[in-house]
Amino acid sequence: MTRRSHRDEFSRKDRAAIFDRAWDAETRVHHCENPACGAALKRGEGEVDHILPVQLGGKPTIANGRLLCSPCHKAKTALDIRMIRKSDRQRDKHTGAIRPKSSIPSRPRKTPKNYASAPLRVWNPWDLTATGKGSD
Ligand SMILES: [Zn+2]
Repeated sequence: MTRRSHRDEFSRKDRAAIFDRAWDAETRVHHCENPACGAALKRGEGEVDHILPVQLGGKPTIANGRLLCSPCHKAKTALDIRMIRKSDRQRDKHTGAIRPKSSIPSRPRKTPKNYASAPLRVWNPWDLTATGKGSD
């Protein structure tokens, strides 16, 4: 798990700017910046969320920050964790850390019926002229 370091957190100034943006001058309260919510926040409520999580490359900037009420922040964080896990899995697949489920079996279990009649085609990964099509 990637540790969050101090530089991933919003600066005091940016936090203040995000709070200012969520301020409703008319009702004189902060609002949750989730458009589907918009709940009025009591004094001291509200959490500054990284819209794109730090673990996925998000930066602690005003543009990547927004003020959320506690339930929205919890829901968003749960969603972030799912996205981070998914991206971890995809990265692992690319780097070969986890072998895909459909990896080549170490030993063929059964000789296919048409095995003997099939043309011998061994893919050579170093042969850059082999395109895999039209070379028969
Ligand atoms: Zn909310």
